Amino acid sequence: MPYLESLELQNHVADSLLRHNYNLDDLPDIFTQVDRENILLDSVKAFIAKPKGCFIGGEWMHSDTDSVIPVYEPFTGKVLNVIPNLSVSEVDEAVVAARKAFANPEWRGMKPMARQAMLLRLSDLVEENAEQLAQIESLDNGKSITGARAELSSAINHIRYMAGWCSKIEGKVNTVSASGQQHAYTLKEPVGVVAGIIPWNFPLVMAVWKIIPALVTGCTVILKPAEQTPLSALRLAELIAEAGFPKGVVNVITGTGVQVGAALASHPGINKIAFTGSTAVGKSIGKSAMENITRVSLELGGKSPLIVFADADIDKVIKGAANAIFYNQGQVCCAGSRLYIHRDIHDKVVAGIAAIADSLTLASGLDASCGMAPLVSKPHQLRVNGYIAQGLSEGAKLATKRSIVEGDGYFVAPTVLTDTHNAMAVVREEIFGPVLVVQAFEDEEEALRLANDSSYGLGASIWSNDLTRVHRLIPQIEAGVVWVNTHNLGDPSQPFGGYKQSGIGREQGREQLDMFLETKSVWIDLN
Ligand code: ADP
Repeated sequence: MPYLESLELQNHVADSLLRHNYNLDDLPDIFTQVDRENILLDSVKAFIAKPKGCFIGGEWMHSDTDSVIPVYEPFTGKVLNVIPNLSVSEVDEAVVAARKAFANPEWRGMKPMARQAMLLRLSDLVEENAEQLAQIESLDNGKSITGARAELSSAINHIRYMAGWCSKIEGKVNTVSASGQQHAYTLKEPVGVVAGIIPWNFPLVMAVWKIIPALVTGCTVILKPAEQTPLSALRLAELIAEAGFPKGVVNVITGTGVQVGAALASHPGINKIAFTGSTAVGKSIGKSAMENITRVSLELGGKSPLIVFADADIDKVIKGAANAIFYNQGQVCCAGSRLYIHRDIHDKVVAGIAAIADSLTLASGLDASCGMAPLVSKPHQLRVNGYIAQGLSEGAKLATKRSIVEGDGYFVAPTVLTDTHNAMAVVREEIFGPVLVVQAFEDEEEALRLANDSSYGLGASIWSNDLTRVHRLIPQIEAGVVWVNTHNLGDPSQPFGGYKQSGIGREQGREQLDMFLETKSVWIDLN
């Protein structure tokens, strides 16, 4: 993969755009359409328009292949830019660069405090560029700028929390019963080259969750962002270079899942795959990984229930349930997408959530009035609308007023479906959109049975002020995260991950680091 000078890159991108019948002159037009409140920074416009390459071995490189992927702006449906769809041999080059960096004494021998300082420097750079990154994220994914800003804070907190672990990775001395005198202890060592494969719903936060633990533990990493939302990860790579990490320690490559993602998952030069995405793709990655016994952690889909008892604070439930499903347009793996309500309060709660849903303004994510931004892509919009239609055809009732939204943006109306049952596809399958399915229950036993009747087990929330009931239920819920009287809260110190088909392993907290470390047992005979 040759490094091309900027002018050649420009020509390459212009050619690619022409091949797809796009015109670079359209770019300012997109900004005029989207940026009604004139908030876009000039640096954001310049970054978006700049030709996009991949960050491999510390260099910005452009692919040799002709294959590029258009990146759409979800509010207008227009193309922001194109990214390379790397060939399999170019993926190999990234693996070679990451392996070389893993062996480099400058990285392998870097003292924990020096690694920590470098990570803190990165967190400062992300903070200095937070508004720029939030705007890139909002443009690329479509999400609200307010949400994107909050995600930036959470990404910065994650880096700062994790940086502190650099100096706290320790083995232990064991008192063994073997004959004679033995000195036996364990060493924690970096697993090697990590491939991070991430989805499009929280692109920057997901990039940070994969890259940072790898760096804390002394691994090197190749990140493949989702082809729909690659831009913030490419900007993050620029900041990583600025923070001073040795060449090849972090690589960011772009392309489709079936080509670039699959090449990483089956590559014998990768020691660990950290994946977030759908359960279907997670299973395929897990199978490929096992060919090489590559370590793998999977953060997959969910269909997280809210269980609401009659003694709960109804106003809090209504706001909390609306937020649990409509936040980020429902494109959240732990979104509260199944609502089980005690029969006595069912109608009141449904009416309250439906009123919130109907009041949300559908607008560009950059618009201050935005209550519901577009979904990430046209295919996803069609898929979510397809689920709503299927639910209605199977007998569900629409509690909200809006149905199909016309226009260029990839909008889906926030939707509440009642009269559902656990055999319906809308209840069993992850929709990943602003669609809430509701059922009434009679008693605690029925609520628990319905909530656990799912192949997923990511999150769940219990809404009740009866402390005894809450504590009785928590151990019986089949989910990796249980919230009480809230939903979707997270913190870098609290492990996150799923039971059942929602995944393998945990992210965040000390637990995350174990998945990037090997344990070596050492025996020294003292006789
Ligand atoms: P979503 O349904 O949210 O788009 P996916 O699971 O399809 O999630 O994608 C998540 C990530 O996995 C993306 O980066 C995508 O490119 C990648 N991916 C998709 N298919 C494969 C595959 N067969 N092998 C490896 N990675 C893949």
